[in-house]
Amino acid sequence: MIEENLNNLKILFNVLRDEGYRVLVATDGVTALEKLDQVVPDLILLDLMLPGRDGFEVCGELKQNVRTADVPVIFLTGVTAIATKQRGLALGAVDYITKPYQADEVLSRVQLHLKLQSLQLTLQAQNQKLSQEITARRIIEGELQKLNSTLECRVQERTEALFQALQRLKEQDEQLRHKAYHDLLTGLYNRSWLIQHLTESLYTGQQKTTFFLDLDRFKSINDRFGHLSGDLLLQQVAHRLQTFLGRNGVVGRLGGDEFLVITPLQGQEGEAIAKQLIEQLRFPFQLNHYTVQIGACVGIVPTTAPYHNVTEILRDADIALYQAKRIGSNTIVVLTPQMQQQALERITLEGDLRRGIEQDEFFLQYQPIVALKTRQLVGFEALIRWNHPHQGCIPPAQFIPLAEETGLIQQLDAWVLKAVAHQWHSWQHQGIDLDQITINVNLAAIHFQQRDFFKQLEILLLQLNLPPSAIKLEITESLFLESSALTLYTLEQLTRKGFKLCIDDFGTGYSSLSRLHTFPMQGLKIDRSFVSAMSEDSSVIVQTIIALAHHLGLDVVAEGIECAQQAEQLQNLGCDLGQGFWFARPLGIPQATQLLHEAVLICG
Ligand code: C2E
Ligand code: CA
Ligand code: CA
Repeated sequence: MIEENLNNLKILFNVLRDEGYRVLVATDGVTALEKLDQVVPDLILLDLMLPGRDGFEVCGELKQNVRTADVPVIFLTGVTAIATKQRGLALGAVDYITKPYQADEVLSRVQLHLKLQSLQLTLQAQNQKLSQEITARRIIEGELQKLNSTLECRVQERTEALFQALQRLKEQDEQLRHKAYHDLLTGLYNRSWLIQHLTESLYTGQQKTTFFLDLDRFKSINDRFGHLSGDLLLQQVAHRLQTFLGRNGVVGRLGGDEFLVITPLQGQEGEAIAKQLIEQLRFPFQLNHYTVQIGACVGIVPTTAPYHNVTEILRDADIALYQAKRIGSNTIVVLTPQMQQQALERITLEGDLRRGIEQDEFFLQYQPIVALKTRQLVGFEALIRWNHPHQGCIPPAQFIPLAEETGLIQQLDAWVLKAVAHQWHSWQHQGIDLDQITINVNLAAIHFQQRDFFKQLEILLLQLNLPPSAIKLEITESLFLESSALTLYTLEQLTRKGFKLCIDDFGTGYSSLSRLHTFPMQGLKIDRSFVSAMSEDSSVIVQTIIALAHHLGLDVVAEGIECAQQAEQLQNLGCDLGQGFWFARPLGIPQATQLLHEAVLICG
C-alpha cells in the first residue's frame, strides 16, 4: 500500500491486517519502487497523490517492469473526476477506491481483485501448461514427421534398389534367354529355338516350308584359310541369309555350315526363295585379305507331308539335302517319297553293314593280274564280297560308297588287309613261292583325310608281318583331286616303308596331269571304260596313257580285258600288265591257290 497520508495508511493497514493480509507500506513513490524491487506483492493499493513521483508515474513504471507488470493496481483517490480515473485505468490500473475509505468497500474490492488475479494466474498457468504441451506436441510431431520422411526416404531408396535389382535380373534373364536360343557365332537362332519353333508350327497346324541349306566345300575353306576365316564366312553367310529372307521366314544355324530356314511360303514360292538365297551366296565374300566364292545346296521339305514330330521333318530335309549334294553345287532338291524310300533302304543297309562287320560276313575274291607279254601270273587284286544273310552275295559297288560315307570303310579296309595277310601266310605255309607275287589291295581315298591314318596303317602292317613288297595299294584318282600336304606326306611315308602304290581307275576322275609326277607312285591302272572303248583302229587314249605312264616310270595295268583282241592290242601298245574276265574272273581261294600251285601261264 502506497499512501502519503499516515492516517489513511493506518486505517487501511488495520482493516487489511485484521482480515489476515500481510501488508507492506510506503509513503512515497520512490520508496515504493525500491521496495517493489525486492518483493512482488499480490496486489498494490496506490495513492495518486504522492510526493516526488506521483501515482501515475509509479503505475507507469510498475507496468513497464516485467516483474510487476501483472500485479493488479488499485488507485486510491480523493479526486473523483472521471478523467483522472480514466487516465489511471488507461495506465493499467484495475480499479480505484475513493476516499474517504469504507472498510467494506476496500475489503470487497481487494478480495475481488485478488480473486481475479489468482484466477488470472491459474488461467495463465494453465495457458502456459497448455502451450508447453502444445510445444511438446509440436516437437514430437516434428520429430515424427522427420522420422516419417526418413522412413519414406528409406522406403524409396529400398524400392529403387529393389527395382534396379529386378531390372538387372530381368536383363540377365533376357541375356540367358538370348544365349539359350541363339547361336553364339552368327547371332542366328540355334537348334533349340528352331526345334521349338517347328514343334509349335507342327502342333498349331501352320503350313510352312522347311529347308536345310549347306555350304559347298566349307571344309576346304577352313583348311585353306584357317578357322577364323571360316568363322568369318559363316557370319557373313548368316547376315546375307537373314537380310535377304527378311520377313519371309526365319533362319537359324544348326551347327557347322548347316543352316535351317523356315518360311510360310509354300510350293513354288518356297522353292523360289531357296533359289534366291543360293544366288545371294554366289556373290564373292571378303575374308580379311581373301576373296572367296562358295556355293550351297538346299534340301526342301514341303509341309504337306504328314509329320508327327520335328525329328521327322529334319530327317527328311536332310535326305533332300543329301540328294542335292550328290547332284552337285548350287542345287535345290525337294523331297519326294522315292527319296524317303531310298534313305530308308540306306539306313537299313547301314545297320546291316555294321552287323555284317561284327558278324564277319565278308570274304575276299582274288582276280589274277597277268604280264601281257609272257602271260605269267604276277599277282591278284583282292576284291571284297559281302555274304548278306538274306540278300546273298552283295557286290562292293552297293556297299562301299555307304561304308565311305559312314566311316565304316576303315574297319572294312583294315579287315581286307588282315585277310590278305592271313592268306599270304597260309600260301607260304603251303610252300608256294610268292617272291614274284603281289597282292593289290584297294584303299578308299577318304582314309587320307585322317591325320593319323599312316600311323594306324603302319601299326597294322607291322602286326601282320608282311613284306611290304608283297602289297600294292590301289588308290582311286579322286584322292589327287583334293590332295593336301597331309596326303602327300602319307604317300611318301608309305613309299619309304617299301609299299607299292598305284592309281586306280585312271582317266575317270579329274587327275591333274600336271601334278601326276609329284606323287610317289609305282603304277597306274587304266580304267576298263577305256579298254572297252578301244577298237581296232582307235586306241589313242589308251596309247597316250601308256606313253605318259612309261614316261613317268610307272607300270601300267589295263583293267577289264574281256577278249583276246583287247589283250593282244594292249600287249602291242606296250601295256605291261592286264586284268579282266578274259584271263580270269575274281576267284575264290581254292581256285586262286590252285593257280599259284600250278604256276601255269594264263592265256584266257
Ligand atoms: P575296282 O578297284 O576298279 O575293281 C575292279 C572291278 O572290276 C571289280 O568289281 C571286278 O570284278 C571288275 N572286273 C574285273 N575284270 C572285269 C572285266 O573284264 N569286265 C568287267 N565288266 N568287270 C571286271 P567289283 O569287285 O565289283 O569291285 C567294284 C569296286 O569296288 C572296285 O573297283 C573297288 O573300287 C571297290 N572295291 C572292291 N573291293 C574293295 C576293297 O576291299 N576296299 C575298297 N576300298 N574298295 C573295294
Ligand atoms: Ca581296284
Ligand atoms: Ca579299277
